[in-house]
Amino acid sequence: MNKKRKRRLSYLPIYILTFVLTTSVAFLSTYNDSKDVANLTSPPSETEEATTAQPRQEILRASFLAVGDNLIHSKLYEQAKERAGGSGYDFKYLYQNVAEDIKNADIASINQETIIAPSKPPSTYPLFNSPPELGKEVVRLGFDIINIANNHMLDKGSSGLKEAIEFWRSQDGVKMTGAYLNESEMYVPETITRNGIVFGIVGITDTTNGLSLPANSELRYFSAAETDKIRRKIELTKEACDVVVVNIHWGNEYSTKPSENQKFLAKKLIEWGADIVIGHHPHVLQPIELIRKIDGGTAVVAYSLGNFVSMQNTGPTLIGGMLRFNVIVDKSSKYVTVEDVKLEPLVMHHKKSYLNGRLYKLSQYNDSLARESTATIKTPAFSMDYIKKHVKGIISEEFLDIS
Ligand SMILES: [Zn+2]
Repeated sequence: MNKKRKRRLSYLPIYILTFVLTTSVAFLSTYNDSKDVANLTSPPSETEEATTAQPRQEILRASFLAVGDNLIHSKLYEQAKERAGGSGYDFKYLYQNVAEDIKNADIASINQETIIAPSKPPSTYPLFNSPPELGKEVVRLGFDIINIANNHMLDKGSSGLKEAIEFWRSQDGVKMTGAYLNESEMYVPETITRNGIVFGIVGITDTTNGLSLPANSELRYFSAAETDKIRRKIELTKEACDVVVVNIHWGNEYSTKPSENQKFLAKKLIEWGADIVIGHHPHVLQPIELIRKIDGGTAVVAYSLGNFVSMQNTGPTLIGGMLRFNVIVDKSSKYVTVEDVKLEPLVMHHKKSYLNGRLYKLSQYNDSLARESTATIKTPAFSMDYIKKHVKGIISEEFLDIS
């Protein structure tokens, strides 16, 4: 999307200083070097040219936004159908409260949890299918990266997945990742450029709910267990771009803590070249972490951003988050870092009879809306206090944007 955002340059001198202190060390390290991270903080030697050279730097910036699962239960598409007045589906009302935020980000990422197979009728849990109007709304909102590697990608079989791939590829201005028509497509770097920064995107899923492609299917996706394939994909992507963004569908459902496997894999993804790791699948929030890269830059990991929209019905599943940060790239050295990492909590609102559900930012929500939700959800204590306490129990204060 052609987005505008005022660029804040106030901390540019700090960045340049950081760059000077770190690049010289980066030049001394090989990519696969397993040196202790602490070594990377050593000051550069006086002979390094970085202490005097400035002109080759070309610093680019972009504001990044990411959300979790776009999980379209029947009540959400039924209300969209009603709003459209009998022809098609109108999903604008559902997302209206966050539309401005998505548009204002230079680049925005979403996990499209439900498949979009246009020739098949919409369906809900446990085998989802969403109408094409939903996908068009996601595009209209300004999402740029659409991940479809998740546990519902095979809900409509291989024919459904093939249709979904074709649907997303036919949408202008967005890049779908996570599924491929054949093996040769899998390793072709997938890139999208915003503000002069080339973002390389990768989508991975830990599970497909026990469903698998027929043996003769040519379709492919990246499974989290296939670490050799993932490593190859990330390394090839890194060569073709400035910033590697990994969407990964992982972790234990309804757990607010990342598993040991998530923590292990996050470090590996970054070691292989990921700069941004966006997690989803648990349907609840999990922590955010900054991880120091081998070249001294900072990578961000959001273990789970929770649900974006859904009609799940417990307090924790209705609380998601909009992750925002700035990506800074030095084009000449390929040095990448992230700054100002903040999560703004989101609340999926329920109305009686499950119709007219709508997404709110926490700053737009209040106790009377929360009380209205308690008529249908299974958490009688749901309130502003409940939501704030829940979020503060998971996300470190430094990353929390609660106004
Ligand atoms: Zn999932």
